[in-house]
Amino acid sequence: MLRVFVEICRYPLGMTGGQIQDEDISASSQWSESTAARFDGDGAWCPDIMSELDGVKEYLQVDLRTLHFITLVGTQGRHADGMGNEFAQRYMIKYSRDGSNWVGWHDRKGRQVIEGNRNAYDVVLKDLEPPIIARFVRFMPVTDHSMIVCMRVELYGCEWLDGLVSYSIPDGHQMIYRGLDVYFNDSVYDGASAERLTKGLGQLTDGTWGLDDFLHSPIYSMSPGYDYVGWSNKSFPKGYVEMIFEFDHVRNFTSMKVHCNNMFSRGVRMFRQATCYFRSGPDWEADPVTLRPTVDRVSQIARFVTVPLGDRTASLIKCRFHFSDLWMLFSEVAFQSGKNGVRCGCVGETFSEASRDDPTHKVDDSNTRILIGCLVAIIAILLTIIVIILWRQVWQKMLEKASRRMLDDELTAHLAIQTQAFSLNHSSLSSEGGSTSNSTYERIFPLCADYQEPSRLIRKALAVGASDSAPHYAEADIISLQESSDSSTYSITAVNMNLFAGTDSSMKEFPRHKLTFKEKLGEGQFGEVHLCEAEGMQDFLDEVLSIEGNNESPLLVAVKTLREDANKNARNDFLKEIRIMSRLRDPNIVRLLAVCVDTDPLCMITEYMENGDLNQFLSNKITLFFFSVYSTLSYSKLIEMAVQIASGMKYLSSLNFVHRDLATRNCLVGKNYTIKIADFGMSRNLYRGDYYRIQGRAILPIRWMSWESILLGKFTMASDVWAFGVTLWEILTLCKEQPYSHLSDEQVIENTGEFFRDQGKQVYLPKPPCCPERVYTDLMLSCWRRNAKQRPSFQEMHTQLMESLV
Ligand code: ADP
Repeated sequence: MLRVFVEICRYPLGMTGGQIQDEDISASSQWSESTAARFDGDGAWCPDIMSELDGVKEYLQVDLRTLHFITLVGTQGRHADGMGNEFAQRYMIKYSRDGSNWVGWHDRKGRQVIEGNRNAYDVVLKDLEPPIIARFVRFMPVTDHSMIVCMRVELYGCEWLDGLVSYSIPDGHQMIYRGLDVYFNDSVYDGASAERLTKGLGQLTDGTWGLDDFLHSPIYSMSPGYDYVGWSNKSFPKGYVEMIFEFDHVRNFTSMKVHCNNMFSRGVRMFRQATCYFRSGPDWEADPVTLRPTVDRVSQIARFVTVPLGDRTASLIKCRFHFSDLWMLFSEVAFQSGKNGVRCGCVGETFSEASRDDPTHKVDDSNTRILIGCLVAIIAILLTIIVIILWRQVWQKMLEKASRRMLDDELTAHLAIQTQAFSLNHSSLSSEGGSTSNSTYERIFPLCADYQEPSRLIRKALAVGASDSAPHYAEADIISLQESSDSSTYSITAVNMNLFAGTDSSMKEFPRHKLTFKEKLGEGQFGEVHLCEAEGMQDFLDEVLSIEGNNESPLLVAVKTLREDANKNARNDFLKEIRIMSRLRDPNIVRLLAVCVDTDPLCMITEYMENGDLNQFLSNKITLFFFSVYSTLSYSKLIEMAVQIASGMKYLSSLNFVHRDLATRNCLVGKNYTIKIADFGMSRNLYRGDYYRIQGRAILPIRWMSWESILLGKFTMASDVWAFGVTLWEILTLCKEQPYSHLSDEQVIENTGEFFRDQGKQVYLPKPPCCPERVYTDLMLSCWRRNAKQRPSFQEMHTQLMESLV
C-alpha cells in the first residue's frame, strides 16, 4: 500500500510510442545529421563529443509539455542493425519544472551518476529513487571522450495532476531516541534551503508514505526516520508549523490529505488543528478554513488526515499545523482540486481507503447507530440468503432438465464444493463414463484516456502493429531488443507487424441486405452483437473459408456492429480488430467470416457460438444447494476446455501474437463444448469489474496480468501464459468468483509489487477444490513464476494438459 503510487505509475511517456514529437526533443549538439535528436535518422542521438571539450555538458532534452511524475528511465545504445556500436556507459539526469531552473537528480544516497548501457542493443531500465516531478528532462552522457556515445531513451511515469509546483516548509529536525540519531529532514528536497526550504518539492510528494514505526522505512536500507519530515514542538514558540504550497495555476480545492505519524508512545502525534489561508491574487484572503480533527489516543497507526478545503479558489495555500505533542511527523501531502485533483486516480483511491483510519471521519458514531446499522445489515443478509436459496432451487430444476438434454453421459460427475472449506464430494450420475475412479480426485482437491481496451499500453502496442506511418524514435529497436534480452516475444515484433499490417484481401464485403436480424446476443465496447441469418453465406465463402460440416442455409452468424456514435479511435480499433482477426485461422480461434465496411455502420460477421462466453457458461453450470456449490460438469470436461484454450494460444504463439487479455470472459463456447478464443480488441462493459481504471489513463484487467505487464507495461507470450494460469483457475473454480476476490484492486497491485520484490510475501491464487495437486503446482503455479523465462510455453502446457486427461 505504501508505495502503490510509485509502483503503478510506470507508463512509457511516449519516446518509444511516438507521442513525444520531434519538436519536443532537442539536444546540445549532434555528431552528424543522421544522429540528431529525432525519430528518424539512425534512430539514436549521438552528441558531438568534441564540443563537450569546450566545457558544454552534452544533453538530450525531452519536453513532456506538462508536469509528470517520473519513476523510471530506460536507455539503449545505437545498434542500427549491427552497424552501430555506440552507447552511454554512464549518464546523469537534470530536470526542470519551468524550463529555466534546472536541478541535477541524485539518488537517495546522493549519487548523481547512473550506470547506463554495456552494449549497443540491450535496453537498461533504472528506477528513479526518488522519483522526479518535472516537465523537462535532460539526459547527459558521462564520457571520457575516448568513444562516441549514442543514446535512445524512454521515460516512464504518469501525469502529475496535483498541480503542486513547490512547497515551502521549515526543514525537519533531528530527534535523539534512546541514543539513536533520527533525522527528520527533507533529504530529497530539490529547491533552495536557507532558513526555510523554498521553491522545491521533496519527500512530501515522493509517493512514499512512512510506516507506523518511524524508525523503519519501506525503502530498503534507509536511516531511521527517513520517510518523515518532522518538527519538534519546542522550536516553534507559536505552537504551529507553517507550510506554503504553490500551484501551477488557480484551482478549486476540495481537500488536502496529510499523511501523519501517530506514534504517541514516542511523543509523536498528528496535528490537533490545521488552518489554511488562500491566495489567488496579490493578498492572502482573510477567512481561513480550519479543521480540528479528533486526536487519536488509541491507535498508533500512521494515517492520512483529510482537511476539507471547501472548494476554495487559490494558486497559493498557506497552512498552519498545530502541535498536539512533542513532535509532528508528515510523510506525504496531496491536494484534490476540481476534476484534476487526483494523482493518476490510484492515489486518490488509495487515499480514500487510508482515510478510513482518518480520525476526522470518526465523527459521531454512537453505539446505538452502530447497533441499528448491524441489525439492518443482518436482516438484509438473511433476506438475501433466503431469496437466493429459493431462486437457486427453481433454477436447479430448470438446469437439470436442460442438462439432461444437453450433456453427454460421460459428463456427469458432480463437484460439490463447500462454501468456505471447498471440500469435495464426488458422485456419479451416469453408469459408464460417470464412474470415474475416485483416484482422480484422491490426488487431493482443494484458490484499469476515454475508453481503452485493457490498457493504453495495449492500444499503443496494437497501434504500432497496424501503423502505416514511419517508425518512431528508436521504437523498433527498443521493442525487438527487449525481446531478445528476455528471450520472450514483445507484443508485436517486426514479424507480426507485417502480418497484421495492411488490409486483408481475403476478407470480403458481404451484402448487408442478406442479413436478417434474429436476436441480440450481447453488448460489447464497440456496440451490440446480434444473431443473424446470413442468406447465401455458404456460397459466399469460398472453399478455403467455408465452415466445415455446416451446410445450414441460411447460416446463423454473429454480427458485431460499431455503434453509430463511435468516435474515430473506436472506429480505428474496430477496423484493427477486423484486420487482426482476418489473419487468424485455427479451430480454437473465433473465425471472422465476412465484413460490411463499405457503408456505415461497420459490421464484422463471425461464426456464431451457441453457448455465449465461457465465464457465463461456467457460472450457469453452478447451482447452490444448502450452501454447497454443484456443477454438472466433470473435472475432465473442464480440463478439455482448458486444452482447447491452450491449443488456440499455441497457434497464436506460433505467430508471435500476444493476446493481452486472455480470460474466460473472452472465450466463447459453441456446440459440444467447443471453445474458441475471441476478443482481439476490447474489454466488455459487462465485466467492467474485472478491469481497473487508472484515472484518465487505462482500464487494466489487473487480476489476469503478470507483474511485468502491470509494473513495466510489458506484454509478452509469457504474460499471456500468466493470464492462462488465471484462466485455468477460473475454469476450475467454475468462475464462481473473481480471482483474488478477497483483495481490493489496490491490494492486487500491492501484491504485484511483492511478485517483483520476490521476498516470499506474494499471494498466489489458491488451489481450486477440484484441482489435483500436480496440476496446481506443475501448471498453474509455473504460469505465475516471477522469471518470465521460467514459465512454460503453450506448447508444453497443451501437452501436459492432454496427458493429465489420460
Ligand atoms: P467486447 O467487444 O466488449 O469484448 P463482444 O462485442 O465481443 O464484447 O461481445 C459481447 C457479447 O456478445 C459477448 O459477451 C457474447 O455473449 C456475445 N457474443 C460475441 N460474439 C459472439 C459470437 N460469435 N457468438 C455468440 N455470442 C457472441
